[in-house]
Amino acid sequence: MKHLNIVLAAVAAICASACASKSESNPVTIGIVPAPTKLEVVEGKFVSAENASKVTTRINTSLAEEEYTLTIGRRGVEIAGGSETGVFWAIQTLEQIKVQCPADSIPCLKVIDRPAFPYRGSHLDCSRHFFSVDEVKGWIDMMAIHKLNYFHWHLTDDQGWRLEIKKYPLLTEIGSVRAQTKVGHYNDKAQGYDNTPYGGFYTQEEAREIVEYAAERHIQVIPEIEMPGHAVAAVTAYPWLGCSGKQVKVRETWGISDEVFCVSKNEVLDFIKDVIDEVCDIFPCEYFNIGGDECPTTEWEKCPSCQAYMKEHGIDTARGLQYDFTAKVEQYVLSKGRKMLGWQELADGCSDASTTILAWLGAEAGIKAAAKGMHTVMCPSQWCYLDYYQTREREKREPLAIGGYLPLSSVYSFDPLEGIPAEQHHFVRGVQGNVWCEYIPTMSHAQHMALPRLAAIAEIGWSGSEGKTSFDCFKARLTKGLVPVYQARGYNYATYEWE
Ligand SMILES: [Zn+2]
Repeated sequence: MKHLNIVLAAVAAICASACASKSESNPVTIGIVPAPTKLEVVEGKFVSAENASKVTTRINTSLAEEEYTLTIGRRGVEIAGGSETGVFWAIQTLEQIKVQCPADSIPCLKVIDRPAFPYRGSHLDCSRHFFSVDEVKGWIDMMAIHKLNYFHWHLTDDQGWRLEIKKYPLLTEIGSVRAQTKVGHYNDKAQGYDNTPYGGFYTQEEAREIVEYAAERHIQVIPEIEMPGHAVAAVTAYPWLGCSGKQVKVRETWGISDEVFCVSKNEVLDFIKDVIDEVCDIFPCEYFNIGGDECPTTEWEKCPSCQAYMKEHGIDTARGLQYDFTAKVEQYVLSKGRKMLGWQELADGCSDASTTILAWLGAEAGIKAAAKGMHTVMCPSQWCYLDYYQTREREKREPLAIGGYLPLSSVYSFDPLEGIPAEQHHFVRGVQGNVWCEYIPTMSHAQHMALPRLAAIAEIGWSGSEGKTSFDCFKARLTKGLVPVYQARGYNYATYEWE
């Protein structure tokens, strides 16, 4: 209860300083996103920009790892972090403070801050469209200013395999290139294809460079290698990975393909293990994401090998084949010292307490997972899919998108703990914003979709339910603190909220 009182006081303090201000020119009005746990402004004393640049940092091990205190005094700035990570988050807060205050009137203040959830994620689909190493680094920079700490890197899918695997060079030689791409929306059959090859991949050296770049910003990179579905690019490169063995082609349109890995063949499982070996060597992250979503069973139902396997192992349904496969992969991932992560569809196939599911089809999957004692990261599409439209005018005003309607206020309304009993809250590891890129061909466009909605995700993850403010308060803080940072960095953020 004591903790709750502190938090409530913190919310009051933030609103008093950021939202209840009568004058926009009031120099003590400070807006910070995500909302800090506690912010105290000392009125009447101001710091010059020069002194605000005199920053001393130290580690205070009595603080939690990501926790920090930030004190702006007349002679300079003092930062204490529970670790270098806490110090780094404090510097992000300082950037927002400095960007919104006139150079000669930065108020003296103290921030005490720590995250509500340990996992605050941002997902980027680099299969449907490919982003360069520099662009991915830019995405990581963008995450850092939001204090997001897990980059979920979607590296393989039907439309392109984007990571070099040395033992299987055709994955990228063949699997990274599609001959052409669907023009317009998937449902719009009339528009045809662009007749232009599209490709790109990351060498292992480049992927390591990105991992290192992220680590310097206290962000872990989670590789996602999709299996057993969303595997057309891999099956194109090595047709023996599929059930029929027939030559297919890297998928040129969106949606879901029936062409998946043949889960009954030993050589396919060996391939998966080889890939996991190489990927684990590149990515030190505690999580390994195996995807696991949207896997049709059509091919398995026709495949003699899969049918024989089902009989031999007493598996009653074709879906049971996926669970059997997932259980084997889970064991292998665990043997590599990693936790398995994947979309909610794999929940029934795994058994280890460390395995974590991404609840995306609705919060219900996360609620069920928590009830079963499974870890979950909440990213239900109706709140966390940042590839949806942001306005009601849709195509008239916005670039083509997959569909949906998800304005900033709806994202902010999400409560990842709703419907989950308090004793199960710890199974909810956090939240994530997902950016699927079927209709997002450039990084500038990706920024337009992510910003500012990713700020709402970041605040839900960092400030938690207890630190939540009104949407108006959130928007006021966003406008004062983060938007100027977006502008200073030249991000192509969406401006619909300010029109
Ligand atoms: Zn098969």
